[in-house]
Amino acid sequence: MTDDRFAAVDDYFTRALHPADPELDEVLEASAAAGLPPHHVSAPQGKLLMLMALMQRAKHILEIGTLGGYSTIWLARALPEGGRVVTLEADPKFADVARANVARANVADLVDIRVGRALDTLPQLLEERPRYFDMIFIDADKPSDPEYLDWALRLARRGTVIVAADVVRDGAVTDTSSKDPDVIGVRRFVELLAAETRVSATAMQTVGAQGWDGFAIGIVVANP
Ligand code: SAH
Ligand code: MG
Repeated sequence: MTDDRFAAVDDYFTRALHPADPELDEVLEASAAAGLPPHHVSAPQGKLLMLMALMQRAKHILEIGTLGGYSTIWLARALPEGGRVVTLEADPKFADVARANVARANVADLVDIRVGRALDTLPQLLEERPRYFDMIFIDADKPSDPEYLDWALRLARRGTVIVAADVVRDGAVTDTSSKDPDVIGVRRFVELLAAETRVSATAMQTVGAQGWDGFAIGIVVANP
């Protein structure tokens, strides 16, 4: 579902509340020119991620699903001295575009792009220090969302914020008989989140330049 008014309101708030951002505009242009699908978060959503990271005082951020690095750059902008975003991307061509984009946005030193299927690259993070992320943003292949929740908890501490994108899917999330693997993945993720006593969570619908979707947002309330 899209409505021109959704995009117009995004545009209004972006113009009103975001300073001119030619670097980020160039990032989206370069991503489109390289043939990447337009699956990045919207500008207000990107800034929301940045604001959440600032509220959380997140120093170590994990992102699953880099694409061209647009959301990565928003998250990197929230980092304090010594902070880092580790971002996981399966497609090496997308990762190359993201590498150029984070350099274009002057955050290359703050971003660590790991290429490979996330379920293959996540185990390595358990071996590294610091092992715990302050914020984890899940935005990759939805059928793997249930496993990403499991990994997020392994890489979390009490107080870690977990955000998962695209959980509304034009309202399809309520369709109990959906055969869409993405919807099935998101519904299973929500079920696991609901049963997870270590996380307090909700989900928020969003409309905007990217249509009708939403974020699940949770905080780890007990030692995982
Ligand atoms: N977070 C980005 C958008 C990510 S789109 C932004 O808002 O700017 C989803 C990305 O996940 C795509 O780039 C896709 O290639 C990647 N992806 C899909 N399956 C994956 C997997 N198994 N492991 C890692 N990345 C994956
Ligand atoms: Mg997404």
